[in-house]
Parts: sequence; structure tokens; C-alpha cells
Amino acid sequence: MIDPHPDPDPAADARRASHARRTERTCIACGRSEVASALLRLVAGPAEADGACDVAVDLSGGAFGRGAWVHPAQACIARAPRALSRSLKCTVRATPVELTQAIALAADRRVEGLLASAFRSRNVRVGSDPVVFGLETGEVVRVVVARDALAVACLGAVQRAVADGIGTAWGTKERLGAIAGRSELGLVGITSPKLAKAIAAAATLANGVGAPAEASGDAVTEAR
Ligand SMILES: [Zn+2]
Repeated sequence: MIDPHPDPDPAADARRASHARRTERTCIACGRSEVASALLRLVAGPAEADGACDVAVDLSGGAFGRGAWVHPAQACIARAPRALSRSLKCTVRATPVELTQAIALAADRRVEGLLASAFRSRNVRVGSDPVVFGLETGEVVRVVVARDALAVACLGAVQRAVADGIGTAWGTKERLGAIAGRSELGLVGITSPKLAKAIAAAATLANGVGAPAEASGDAVTEAR
């Protein structure tokens, strides 16, 4: 039906986008409904001649394709391939183990993408002194520490951040450096709360899907 009174409010699009993340979806494995942001989206590729199809993990929620939602919990991931096959009427090739690995890999890439986005939008503090100062002023809302940055991990301010639950261990000095356009980087402070939240959620997922997701995967593809 056509709405005779279309909303003239220019903020309507933003409200609709936010509404979409709060919309309830049903986990394909356990059948429980949940806000979309607490579930993972899986997208199936086209069915091939033998009736099999590939499945990809869509963490940003924007991929086209036949999708289904699943809890990022081991019990649900284990049942997902069979449930997906039934619902999509094709044989999903992935085993639960492969699916778990694919989720971790997709989450790892998403952390990388979100960090790149933080650099592009200048929502970062780089290096020990600026990050420690940013933590003191409250400007830095999350620190990302390279896993091999041992000296940085020993800093009192970084240890306090980790204890306060605003520390994320991710990647290596080399990977973090590549995002920052330098050879190595051990410590980054994130100043955008939205990006910080999304990075924390993706990093949790990158470490494995054992725990139920406390994190909401709010789609933050670009923050300005
Ligand atoms: Zn479930």
C-alpha cells in the first residue's frame, strides 16, 4: 500500500536504518528471536549444478544474497549448516568448524576495516603519549594493542584500560602499522564511541564464537 502521507523529515532515513538494526530476526538454528544486532548474518551463494552452495559471513549486514541469521554461539553455529541447507534448499558446503573459522576470519577483517575507517576519519590517537593523554582526558574510549607489543602492554595506563574493559588486543605491530601507513605500530586509541563499540564487538568475535554475544554489531561502516 502506498503511504498517502510520506514522512517529509530528512532524518527519516537515519531513523529507518537504526530501526532495521533493532528489528527482530529469528536464529535459523535455535528458532529464538533476537534484535538483528545480536545475531550474525550468513549469506548463501547461488546453488550450483550439484545442488551445493557456499556460505559467507556478512558482518556489516549489507551484502546481497539469500541470507539467514544465527546466534554467534557454538551451539547455534553447529546446527547452522544443516538448518541453512533446509531453509535455502541447497547443500551448504561448510562444516560447523569451517563456519566457525569463517566467522573468526570475517571478524578479524572487520576489525581491520573498522580501524582503517577510524584512521580515515581521524578518530584515532597514535603512539603511547597521545593515547595515555587521551585516556586521561576521556577522549580515547578504547585502546587497541598489538598482540606482540609487549612494552606497550606493560604501560600502567594501558593495563588500567584493559582492566576497565576498554582494551582490545588485536593483530601485530606490523598489521596495525600497515593500517596506519607506517612500518610498525603497537598502540592506537580510538576516539569515536561508535567505532570503539563496533571494534570491540568484532574483536570479541575474532577471538572465537564460544560466548554468547554481549556485543551488538551495530553496522558502522563509515564513521565521520
Ligand atoms: Zn540461536
